[in-house]
Amino acid sequence: MTLKATLDQHNVTLVAVSKTYPPERIMAEYEKGQRIFGENRVQELTAKYEALPKDIQWHQIGHLQRNKIKYIASFVHLIHAVDSFELLQEIDRQAAKYERIIDCLLQFHIAKEDTKFGFSEEEAVALLEQQPWLHLQHVRICGVMGMATYTDDETVVRQEFRQLKKIFEHLRQRFFADAPSFKEISMGMSGDWHIAVEEGSTMVRIGSLIFGSRN
Ligand SMILES: *Cc1c(COP(=O)(O)O)cnc(C)c1O
Repeated sequence: MTLKATLDQHNVTLVAVSKTYPPERIMAEYEKGQRIFGENRVQELTAKYEALPKDIQWHQIGHLQRNKIKYIASFVHLIHAVDSFELLQEIDRQAAKYERIIDCLLQFHIAKEDTKFGFSEEEAVALLEQQPWLHLQHVRICGVMGMATYTDDETVVRQEFRQLKKIFEHLRQRFFADAPSFKEISMGMSGDWHIAVEEGSTMVRIGSLIFGSRN
């Protein structure tokens, strides 16, 4: 089955990761019906937002610096990689200026590599228990995001996705039982999306499989 048919069957949202690819390539996917695109660099994201049709939903998928939020706060649709309360607070502050509520995912560190950002489950629980985030009126926590270890060992990748799904279920029961908008598990990329879908992903972030390999 093709990527799109499989995702449709499982009700999984496709974020087409267009970082490094020029606007023409994005337009080619747009013409085929794709409306959700993901970028990981703010400067590139804002340039593409300005150049391309306004019904595109732009997702910020990579690590985000606090001082860059102001450039995307007026239009960004979902921020995938929130890894601190300070970041969430600043997103809230910037969103307030535009009278918006910005949807966010909490990023979890599930991979073996320590180069990847994200909360541990304990850190997130400690933060959510203190509840300062409940006072933020301009952000909505919609779920979790994670990246698996970059390895050919499917067992490792599967175990990490399973761990993220467990974290999601745990947080949902404990903190978001009354929040139907807490529903997203953003996991799976070009090399591991099929495993992610089997393990309960609701949103995959796929670049090279759609656009071809990046340099
Ligand atoms: C680049 C990137 C992707 C997509 O990677 P591919 O291997 O090209 O599918 C997904 N998520 C994040 C956070 C990325 O930076």
